[in-house]
Amino acid sequence: MSKFFRKLYSSLQSDGTLHKVFQDYQHVTVRGGSGGSGASLFLSLYRKEFAGPSGGDGGNGGHVIFEASPDVKSLIDVKKTVIGLSGSSGRHGKGGAQDGANAKHLFVHVPLGTIIKENGSQLIDLKEKGSRYIAARGGYGGLGNRTFATSEETAPTKSSKGSPGECRYLELELSIVADIGLVGFPNAGKSSLLRCISKATPLVANYPFTTLNPHVGVVDYRDSFRLAVADIPGIIKGAHLNKGLGLSFLKHIRRCSSLVYVLDVSVPTYLKQLQYLKFELNQYQPGLAEVPNLVVANKIDTEGGSVNFRALTKKLPSESVVGISALYNLNTDLLREKLRKLHERNR
Ligand code: GDP
Ligand code: MG
Repeated sequence: MSKFFRKLYSSLQSDGTLHKVFQDYQHVTVRGGSGGSGASLFLSLYRKEFAGPSGGDGGNGGHVIFEASPDVKSLIDVKKTVIGLSGSSGRHGKGGAQDGANAKHLFVHVPLGTIIKENGSQLIDLKEKGSRYIAARGGYGGLGNRTFATSEETAPTKSSKGSPGECRYLELELSIVADIGLVGFPNAGKSSLLRCISKATPLVANYPFTTLNPHVGVVDYRDSFRLAVADIPGIIKGAHLNKGLGLSFLKHIRRCSSLVYVLDVSVPTYLKQLQYLKFELNQYQPGLAEVPNLVVANKIDTEGGSVNFRALTKKLPSESVVGISALYNLNTDLLREKLRKLHERNR
């Protein structure tokens, strides 16, 4: 069995329904590293037995920092509890060498488009590559007895412990960010289309749930203009009731400024597909289906495809529909231009 099918079957439950392999929500407890303790020590030198207090300060604990990375695609790999590194304790010695080292900060990589919330309210949206959020600060290092020495108290034994790191309970929610979302029933050819117009390589197969994760492809234009287009999989009848992959994907559509309805015109149900898609979107969020959009009639290379496409152009305004073949790359340059115009009108 190929690797792909093994992955697919492992995500099928015994009743044949699909697990939600793509994880776009995670609760995380984050705790900054604790500060190292200050030391209580005395220096004893040759010919100067009581050379004074020499306990250094503890180092500061490290922060826990979330950083958006394009290499991470799902929140599934983010641990539920993340604890920062502790600072080192103060040591025995002379000068600055006595102090414990500050701990390094701990970076947790999350996908682009991760929204961080606390008690339901949004703190930040990590949209851009490398954007960061300090989720929990490390504690301060404790003070060594050297720091407590005064002219009256030349030999203090007092030192303090490091303070614990900040502790927070945060919610991470992934909402992919794209200019345009491709919406269509399984097998309509969304992944094929994205492959044609961008360098993204979502899997293509004659199987309803080939694409388990939303893919974002970047469409490059000659004048260095770029468009992010998302292949949003898994919409079936009843998705708004959480059937199939259901709601987990519908919610990603909210962040696209324009939509493309991808219809399979090789079958006679092409108009129904459009009605059902709009129905699912509007059931999920009233008005969502009406965001500026374009209809792509895919598979015009097939026998019925070109006839159905012509019939479709009579039912819809001609500028709002493009007939293409993602398989044979027909009209895909025209589609790229239309996508750009759609985006420029609506951003
Ligand atoms: P998705 O489920 O919407 O992502 O659809 P895929 O891109 O995986 O395509 C589903 C099937 O339709 C695959 O077997 C493709 O080869 C086929 N397909 C996609 N586009 C076209 C097309 O323009 N013409 C024809 N004849 N087949 C296509
Ligand atoms: Mg697909």
